[in-house]
Amino acid sequence: MILPPATLGMLGGGQLGRFFVSAAHEMGYRVWVLDPDSHSPAGLIADRHLVAAYDDYAALDELAGACAGVTTEFENVPAATLDYLAKFLSVHPSASAVAVCQNRIAEKTFLADNGLPHGPFAVVRSEAEVRNAAPELFPAVLKVARFGYDGKGQARVANPDEALHAFHQFGGEACMLEKMLSLDCELSVVLARDEAGNVSCFDPSENRHRHGILDITIAPAGVASALIARAREVAGQIAEKLDYVGTLGVEFFVCGGALYVNEMAPRPHNSGHHTIDACVTSQYEQQVRALCGLPLGEPRAHSAAVMVNLLGELWYDGAHMGGTYREPDWSVLHAVPNLRLHLYAKHHARAGRKMGHFTVIGGDAEKTLAAALHGRAVIG
Ligand code: ADP
Ligand code: MG
Repeated sequence: MILPPATLGMLGGGQLGRFFVSAAHEMGYRVWVLDPDSHSPAGLIADRHLVAAYDDYAALDELAGACAGVTTEFENVPAATLDYLAKFLSVHPSASAVAVCQNRIAEKTFLADNGLPHGPFAVVRSEAEVRNAAPELFPAVLKVARFGYDGKGQARVANPDEALHAFHQFGGEACMLEKMLSLDCELSVVLARDEAGNVSCFDPSENRHRHGILDITIAPAGVASALIARAREVAGQIAEKLDYVGTLGVEFFVCGGALYVNEMAPRPHNSGHHTIDACVTSQYEQQVRALCGLPLGEPRAHSAAVMVNLLGELWYDGAHMGGTYREPDWSVLHAVPNLRLHLYAKHHARAGRKMGHFTVIGGDAEKTLAAALHGRAVIG
């Protein structure tokens, strides 16, 4: 067991890392963050911020020398970095689990090999493979295998010609061609798993996206109980097959009443932000607990919750990026009862950049959603 006041290492300095740092601090740990951005949200509140690349071995040696355990908030940390650190200290999740989640080809292959539900897809690594893709995959989404997020590195394509065009635009890199599914809704499951294999699963939530970016999370999801049970079951199977230790996010599509895994995130998930305000234990505290070998906390929700992401557009008057740059008027949000505002202290707002979020909690799911939508309308 890693006990306070030990120092923990966090690879990645984004908002997910920032919430981890807060949770760890509350529990009496110190945290060092490694992130190449000197203004990273987690780095700003860490005990030490190593401003270095993820493959800077001098910085990794320094991290290993100071920390008792290391985790990540960023799925694109090179697996070699995790493997290297694991020679010196405990690293969760493992390099092998992260490697599956950080590459769409490895991810879908993992699902297929383990008989887990997924939509129709083809791996395309060459022009010929794009041309030869099964016609029934179209209309489709072409996604670069690595480094995509928030809908980046994706193109909707109606036919093989459009797919070929997009493939070239992505530089001829290995891609995943997925059939475009007609979605009833999207769900996600966030869970934590410890080294002994105990799993602690939060209630599945419903996620609504805008322009490929998560907009709203509604927790718990108001879908049939059989779907909820199935989502928990599949997420648990994924964690077990990956021998996963830490907090894991699993995104699902619901299509024609059936459940398909969309993707996995080897870290806390945006759709689990509400666990800070609405659950007995947050997804970030679970990440600390799993890393340190403490018993996992109780995931039970004490309130219904709706989370709304706040994107960079809000900082531009009139919601157009050409408008004046100014701080949004937060007072209008603070006027909404039971609304908790979280801002990430990012240096500059850009279109589509996640700058903060708010969570509305309440006893009644419908009223909570109405209050959150009201909050979103008044802030812009
Ligand atoms: P990211 O890494 O950007 O989150 P995703 O693969 O989750 O990438 O895609 C982002 C969103 O785009 C999804 O949550 C969903 O709304 C939509 N989307 C992606 N793939 C499909 C698909 N095959 N069919 C329908 N919608 C899709
Ligand atoms: Mg996604």
